[in-house]
Amino acid sequence: MITNALNRKIYLDHSATTPLDERVFCEMKPWFTEKFGNANSIHSFGADAALAVDTARRKIAELLGAKPTEIYFTSGGTEADNWAIKGMAEAKRDKGKHIIVSSIEHAAIMSACKQLSAKGYEITYLPVNSKGLVAPQDLLSAIRNDTVMVSVMLANNEVGTIQPIKELCEIAHGKGVLFHTDAVQAVGSIPVSVKELGVDMLSLSAHKFYGPKGIGALYIKSGVKPDKLLVGGHQERTMRGGTTNVPAVVGMAKALEIATGELKKNSEYVKGLRDRFVKLVEERIPHVIYNGDGKERLPQNANFSFEFIEGEALLLNLDLCGIACSSGSACSSGSLEPSHVLLAMGINPETAHGSIRFSFGKDNTRDEVDYVVEKLVENVNKLRAISPLFAMFNEGVKNV
Ligand code: PLP
Repeated sequence: MITNALNRKIYLDHSATTPLDERVFCEMKPWFTEKFGNANSIHSFGADAALAVDTARRKIAELLGAKPTEIYFTSGGTEADNWAIKGMAEAKRDKGKHIIVSSIEHAAIMSACKQLSAKGYEITYLPVNSKGLVAPQDLLSAIRNDTVMVSVMLANNEVGTIQPIKELCEIAHGKGVLFHTDAVQAVGSIPVSVKELGVDMLSLSAHKFYGPKGIGALYIKSGVKPDKLLVGGHQERTMRGGTTNVPAVVGMAKALEIATGELKKNSEYVKGLRDRFVKLVEERIPHVIYNGDGKERLPQNANFSFEFIEGEALLLNLDLCGIACSSGSACSSGSLEPSHVLLAMGINPETAHGSIRFSFGKDNTRDEVDYVVEKLVENVNKLRAISPLFAMFNEGVKNV
């Protein structure tokens, strides 16, 4: 089916998920079929699977600057985040019940905090500036004697802002407080080393770097001991029950190996596409706001607020042109609330409602960027032509 002038659909939603790399699929395939053993079985089928998991764990650890015994496989970023927050809150409850997170965390952290708050924990949400950055001084002021942990994401999923994690972590450690970072959006896009960052825990998820869905990991530094989240069998050195997803573990290791090996080339390429897109949009469309930081930003992310229109309407119109992008994050789409990230950055709710995230990937091309800009211009003009707010603005009505 012809979907647009380029005869193909254009996927600009790589922050929601990425396609599985063919090379990753090839590596995974035998572990679904002939090598199907349970990694906990003691016979040869099990031993083969256990060896594959072991090899994958060592590879992932090496690529992240960790020890193999510090990598725990999970079902994805959401589980890793829940484990870090709830596990540590529970383990440290005798020290205190105060937790500090940023106000722009992913729903996986925010919802875990909400549950803890209902159980009597006190959560401090650090503010961010208009670019989405946490101020180290704000963290320092927020830490109390009963603070048990801090969690600040490495890179934001909506606006791509990269936080000064190393500095924030040093502040927390200076006060004897543990530090977790959600690096789900960062791993595979920018260099990530747990040693460099100095964090105690770090979450990652394979489907954000051309790996399979439903697999992730929590890095837990040696000596750091969160309580268990999932109890059951003795998998993951008794820390996380559940039969190991061998094909997914193998796939995550391969995906991380490829992403790390090709990181420089791919991130420069993707950044080039993103920068061209941003320049053309700013040149061709009036009344747009480029959200996020100009410099401390993931290479794939562009987030724009188009004033006087609804983001959802623009999204649907672009979809009809074969263009896939996103309003807010995939996890909060379906909610009509404006993005908590944009609101925390001080953007007013009306403007936040007109925001779209475009996230580029290694398979996008320059002609796709140019085509998307053409369709954006067309559709923004079309929607503004029927927007009462835009009409009022043009008639000079103030504060529309
Ligand atoms: N954290 C961030 C920053 C994310 O962007 C996402 C996914 O969108 C998650 C956590 C959840 O990861 P998963 O989809 O693997 O559960």
